[in-house]
Amino acid sequence: MQGLTPLHEAQKTVFEATKTLGLEKVSLLDALDRVLGEDIVAARDNPPWDNSAMDGFAVRWEDIKQEHAITKPVVLRVIEDVPAGKVATKSVSPGQAIRIMTGAPIPKGADTVVKVEETESSEGTVKVFKEVERGGNIRPQGEDVKKGDCIIAKGMQIRPAEAGMLAILAKSFVLVYQRPRVAILSTGDELADLDERFDEDKIINSNSYGIAAAVQEAGGIPILLGIARDQPAALKEKIAHGLNADILVLSGGVSMGDYDFTKAVFKDLGAEMNFWKLAIRPGQPLAFGKIQGKLAFGLPGNPVSSMVTFEQLVRPAMLKMGGHRSYGRPIVQAVFQEKFSKRTDRRHFLRGILRRENNVLTVRTTGDQGSGILTSMVKANGLIDVPEEVERLNPGDTVNVQVLSGQF
Ligand code: AMP
Ligand code: MG
Repeated sequence: MQGLTPLHEAQKTVFEATKTLGLEKVSLLDALDRVLGEDIVAARDNPPWDNSAMDGFAVRWEDIKQEHAITKPVVLRVIEDVPAGKVATKSVSPGQAIRIMTGAPIPKGADTVVKVEETESSEGTVKVFKEVERGGNIRPQGEDVKKGDCIIAKGMQIRPAEAGMLAILAKSFVLVYQRPRVAILSTGDELADLDERFDEDKIINSNSYGIAAAVQEAGGIPILLGIARDQPAALKEKIAHGLNADILVLSGGVSMGDYDFTKAVFKDLGAEMNFWKLAIRPGQPLAFGKIQGKLAFGLPGNPVSSMVTFEQLVRPAMLKMGGHRSYGRPIVQAVFQEKFSKRTDRRHFLRGILRRENNVLTVRTTGDQGSGILTSMVKANGLIDVPEEVERLNPGDTVNVQVLSGQF
């Protein structure tokens, strides 16, 4: 009998078989969460010119540098009033000031801005009550972005901050990696889909929907192929459709039962496949390989097993395809709150609830960890990664947790 395959070995095999997809151009408004396929190099400085950080008066520092400004304010002649969006036409000579707005370019001759709050205006003149250091209240050209610098690197995911920066750099279209298209097929005679009449003796096909959501969360496009009955011909036909996508994900039918035809059909289609018994729990039986150049995964049918194996194998492959720079979930260390014991032959992924208690990150399990207990995933915000060699955990032990959602 075939032995157990450690997860990291399976991950390595999947990784080596996974190629990054090509690029496409999208408009900036469609770019959120997409992965940049080009280095973004600044074509100009930002800000493009020295500009005022305040509403106030552009002055020459030489004119206002004095110690007793409050009792003996300097009086300057205001030679121009520049409204927002306009540029000064005059330059500031000794004894003069130009009134400007925040963001306005600094007029020639001036080297300092005095805030309006520290002045008092009357007809044609302004009194300055406070000394400002030379260059005060001026935002220098290029303080944010320098022309020629790489501001956002290829492989970065576009968040609101990057979207704003792309706009500053006048990029209304950007090159991004294509999103992996993932065909999803559930197998089993016992399954009924949501749009079918629901009989008492049927199990609702929940995997297709859970996996579709996981595909979307990982930045992919799910393509639902529905349910294949447990007959080789039916399975073959559906799989053939799925091969138009970048990845094919099946659930169910990979065990040793009489109606588990996935392996046979994969082989029939000429696939180079690995049929693993993974050294993890949940999620032991797993098929992976290439059929006609496309990645194909046969995940276990139990809802929790299919989700956990998707997390550990399909999601990283999708992220690599999609041009990401790292492929894992964030990992945090947390203080385990329970007792737990297991055999030392498998790595366990316990569904966990991360919480911050008195500024310490703690984690407890969601309760029953059976592979059919989908509420264990619903309650969880993390997967507690218990390595193969660990036999028991006690309250107070530190564990690594893969963060599934940011709410804790
Ligand atoms: P299998 O791996 O085909 O033996 O399936 C194992 C268990 O998972 C069975 O109890 C199935 O009813 C359940 N199962 C398989 N496929 C699905 C699915 N698409 N949705 C929900 N449960 C499923
Ligand atoms: Mg089945």
